[in-house]
Amino acid sequence: MKDQITSESAWASLQFDNRFTRCLPGDPQPENFRRQVRGACYSRVRPTPVVAPQLLGWSADMAARLGLTLDPFTNPEVAEVFGGNRLLDGMDPFAMCYGGHQFGNWAGQLGDGRAINLGEVVAPDRQRWMLQLKGAGPTPYSRTADGLAVLRSSVREFLCSEAMFYLGVPTTRALSLVSTGQLVTRDMFYDGNPKQEPGAVVCRVAPTFTRFGNFQLLAARKDLDVLQQLIDHTILTDFPHLGVPTEAIRLQWFQEVCERTAEMIVHWMRVGFVHGVMNTDNMSIAGLTIDYGPYGWLEDFDPSWTPNTTDAAGRRYCYGEQPSVGLWNLVQLANALFPVMQDASGLQKAIDAYTTRFNDDCNQMLAAKLGLPAQADAAAIELAGELPERLQDAETDMTIFYRALARAPLLPQQAELTGEQWAVALDTLQDAWYTPDKVSPDAKAQLQQWLSRYRQILHTQQISDDVRQQRMNSVNPKYVLRNYLAQLAIERAEQGDPGLIQELLDVLQRPFDEQPEKEHLAKKRPEWARDQPGCSMLSCSS
Ligand code: AMP
Ligand code: MG
Repeated sequence: MKDQITSESAWASLQFDNRFTRCLPGDPQPENFRRQVRGACYSRVRPTPVVAPQLLGWSADMAARLGLTLDPFTNPEVAEVFGGNRLLDGMDPFAMCYGGHQFGNWAGQLGDGRAINLGEVVAPDRQRWMLQLKGAGPTPYSRTADGLAVLRSSVREFLCSEAMFYLGVPTTRALSLVSTGQLVTRDMFYDGNPKQEPGAVVCRVAPTFTRFGNFQLLAARKDLDVLQQLIDHTILTDFPHLGVPTEAIRLQWFQEVCERTAEMIVHWMRVGFVHGVMNTDNMSIAGLTIDYGPYGWLEDFDPSWTPNTTDAAGRRYCYGEQPSVGLWNLVQLANALFPVMQDASGLQKAIDAYTTRFNDDCNQMLAAKLGLPAQADAAAIELAGELPERLQDAETDMTIFYRALARAPLLPQQAELTGEQWAVALDTLQDAWYTPDKVSPDAKAQLQQWLSRYRQILHTQQISDDVRQQRMNSVNPKYVLRNYLAQLAIERAEQGDPGLIQELLDVLQRPFDEQPEKEHLAKKRPEWARDQPGCSMLSCSS
């Protein structure tokens, strides 16, 4: 089989301009074996061909942005290219060299152990996009692992990247999901029960896949010349609005990295997303959510919840800790930049600004979730900040709660509600409780008290129920990738029916719309999924 496509055909619209490999130092060793790579930002490596690539999922929106107009499910070349069997003209595949702190400990060189960047596309609108195959075979950075990915984790990455994009969360994206026709061995819970699972490859897409860890590894090795080159390359390519790098511009760049990280985590908190492995190698320099592994979605609102079984004991990466982990990770990045940037007080200021920025944005976000206007005042912020406590008084589904609150008739035109009106309002909220019979009278009373303060603000500011509902429904999604839904899509795909993958993708493209015919996909987690592996418990094994 020809392994290079040179046809003009449907692919001709993809324009490659590989700045990362062209501008930065690469590893001179062309062979693909595991090693420590020094003095370089990447190693050239080709994807390992697979037996029977089959396209299971496709993001038409991502394809259109890249300028790809072909019909993916009828064109067999699509699975060949995005399964890793064929390279297109202009591709220059490589794996990145990076390190990172894992669960708080410096881990040394990690690198793209199973991700292979294919090349940088310049889209018709001039936006730059790196294409990357995840699960495409071993690289010099694979350490003791196989370079592969299983279908289960690939479905999760494919769907969640796209779902997050449509929720308005900064994220890497996914173009395609291809099954390989090969089996991969995984011991899912590291308990001595390895199984063979179907393998898959996801094509991820992002302006850049550079992580905090790329800078950290160069600093740890005192490779300051390459570190400086990587900083300046990142500014010129991924932050071009900042201008040509100087000492002052580099500091501005770090400030922007801090701000973008804060913004990203505010969005995670808004939608109830828990990343699960916020190691510094999983932190994007562009402030994008990256590396969808054992992530999860809050169902009952519990800030101490983590989906990652590896993290169950320490809960370092639970929902409520994400903002402070973001800070910790930025401090590690600042430490790595210090040897070339030198301005300790400037770096410290940017770090401090992260906290201010996060707190301000988070306050405004919580107020916006209640339909209160931008620039919420102190009373509104205090009220919004108390709601998370109320959500913990009873087992409450966060996503359903905010949508129920949006449609609850609070009648702010009236100074007071009658007993009957209160009953209707509270009844609407019951939808969000997992076990309504078990909610204590005290919890109900507390909630009602909170609601009357909320009503007071709505009454004073004359925010009608209609306006409030419209505002709330534009920031509080109805559809999120509930953990059990992803699991259902996986189980069906493993049995040969990928239909639910595309169905979920379609629904999740309009997460704020009601979509009455898809109501069942907005329901509370069913009881069977409460403690089911894959639904509430995930491991790093993928
Ligand atoms: P993660 O915890 O998925 O972010 O991965 C941490 C490091 O392990 C990264 O360098 C990954 O590229 C690498 N890695 C994870 N899974 C595999 C695998 N199956 N084969 C090779 N490298 C892997
Ligand atoms: Mg990773």
